[in-house]
Amino acid sequence: MRIDVLTIFPDMVKPVLGQSIVGRAVYEKKLTIHVIDFREYSPNKHKKVDDTPYGGGAGMVLRVEPVINALRAIDGYEKAHKVIMTPQGKPYAQTDAARLSTHDHLIILCGHYEGFDERIHAYFDEEISIGDYVLTGGEVAALVLIESTVRLIPGILNKDESHQDDSFSDGLLEYPHYTRPREFEGKRVPEVLMSGNHQAIENWRRTEALKRTKTRRPDLYARHQKAQKKHGK
Ligand code: SAM
Repeated sequence: MRIDVLTIFPDMVKPVLGQSIVGRAVYEKKLTIHVIDFREYSPNKHKKVDDTPYGGGAGMVLRVEPVINALRAIDGYEKAHKVIMTPQGKPYAQTDAARLSTHDHLIILCGHYEGFDERIHAYFDEEISIGDYVLTGGEVAALVLIESTVRLIPGILNKDESHQDDSFSDGLLEYPHYTRPREFEGKRVPEVLMSGNHQAIENWRRTEALKRTKTRRPDLYARHQKAQKKHGK
């Protein structure tokens, strides 16, 4: 996969992309990431990217030319899947990460200030929000999208890092985990996990996943139950 990130704060993005699973994928050449400062594409001699809003009001608006010039300078931009990070976009979920992970080329635009000149939206395929709150800029949101998407590309995670059991992958929160020691300050690891009985462990994990989803996320639980009923389970 190739990912291009359009931002006016490249240093907010670059260091993070060199770390952990994403960093390893880049190192192993399974992933290419370009971080593009669209300020460089401003036709303004002072490289200005924002301006005051028509109609008045507080804050500055990102101008259309630097963004679209930068977009058009990206190799293969026409065919790429182009995403705008905005709190007004579709609420992001694991199913979106799975969907985005199937694209060969993603372009992600990060906003700042009051956001974008509305005409920019016509050049992009979708708008994504990472939650009902407002960040100062789209950089952290773009990193959330990259982190969650890249780990779902086949061949990126190794066997020990499998995402099959992760929360949301089957509509439920994941079961609880334990590691050594067997007991800490009177708190013991559930016996079944040390029993070596794989079927019993699997059953326990399934039950715990259902229990915890029911208490922590009744919305997910209800959806899961409905889907199970539909499939006659
Ligand atoms: N005035 C805008 C509004 O009310 O919708 C908010 C602009 S926000 C201060 C600046 C930029 O941060 C946005 O253009 C977007 O790129 C990014 N951003 C902020 N919150 C976000 C969220 N929840 N999800 C995705 N991007 C977000």
